[in-house]
Amino acid sequence: MKGIIKTKREAKCVSLEDIEKPKLENSHEVMVQIHSAAICGSDLHAYEYIASYQNFMRVPVVLGHECSGVVVEIGSAVTEFKIGDRVMGESNVYCGKCRNCRTGNTHVCENNLMRGLTTDGVMREYVPFLEQNLHHVPDNLSFNEAAAAQAATVSVHGVLRRFNINAGSIVVVTGVGIIGLVAAQLAKLCGATNVIVAGTDADMETRIPIAQGFGFQTLNCQKEPISEFLSNLTSCNKADYVLECSGASSAINAIPTYLRKGGEVLLLGLPGKAVSFPFADVIRSEINIRTTYTSTWQDYEDTLRLLSNNNISISPTLKEYSLDNVREAFEAGLNKEALKPVFKFL
Ligand SMILES: [Zn+2]
Ligand SMILES: [Zn+2]
Repeated sequence: MKGIIKTKREAKCVSLEDIEKPKLENSHEVMVQIHSAAICGSDLHAYEYIASYQNFMRVPVVLGHECSGVVVEIGSAVTEFKIGDRVMGESNVYCGKCRNCRTGNTHVCENNLMRGLTTDGVMREYVPFLEQNLHHVPDNLSFNEAAAAQAATVSVHGVLRRFNINAGSIVVVTGVGIIGLVAAQLAKLCGATNVIVAGTDADMETRIPIAQGFGFQTLNCQKEPISEFLSNLTSCNKADYVLECSGASSAINAIPTYLRKGGEVLLLGLPGKAVSFPFADVIRSEINIRTTYTSTWQDYEDTLRLLSNNNISISPTLKEYSLDNVREAFEAGLNKEALKPVFKFL
């Protein structure tokens, strides 16, 4: 069978290879024939082979952690899934035994494996999953949407579980990837009256028009500081909340210039390198900072329901690629031509 492999410990070096078809290894496993697998920011980092991934990731490894497909085989102890079911899989493999797992916090499992980085991922024709890591896909969602729904679960976990946005508030979202665009939609669902999505020069071609299509106010913060943009809004001059989805040092450092004193920040974006932070300003303004990382079973279930019910949408962000265009898809993701590239396996 075919799989998309990071072949060498060098930049790029990702290709479609012939690999061995996996077998079910225990009675709780389900074999999924993959229909769609989406490229995430972490896959792009693995493709580029940036410094913070060099010791962290295994090579060679099958890339990817966002997928959907159909059940083709089940272990004897599987009860929740049957052959033919449409499913999507979780990104992390948790141990189920550590303190965090036992208290429902599987997303911060102490022995967490990340598919596509520290263990073989999902960009291959067949992937075995424990049934506890799978979710049924609602009929009205496409396989492409179901694969990319994994990214949306990160925003759902952050905005709905780890944060508390009051109705009537002003929210700034920095970063215009799928996590930022879903976080922005969730802020609206929470009743925010102004949701402002801030991007940079590189976002202007593809990503900002998609954000505008969702109805958000947008700006290029390389051209206009967010503080200036907000002071020109008649209804306010500071933000109540920031959803930081870029991981960029410049975006993180600018937060105290436009967040009101006592405001709150949720950090969803994972910086690729060390970031300095103006802690003196943050402390003097008594700014609250929260972090969020990946998602739990409940977040997946809720995300699929929110998508199915059209409370949130990700379809405008998706761009499909065939397996003949592996390199093109990664390059398009990297240079921000495609917001969410998705490989069609079947
Ligand atoms: Zn992802
Ligand atoms: Zn654990």
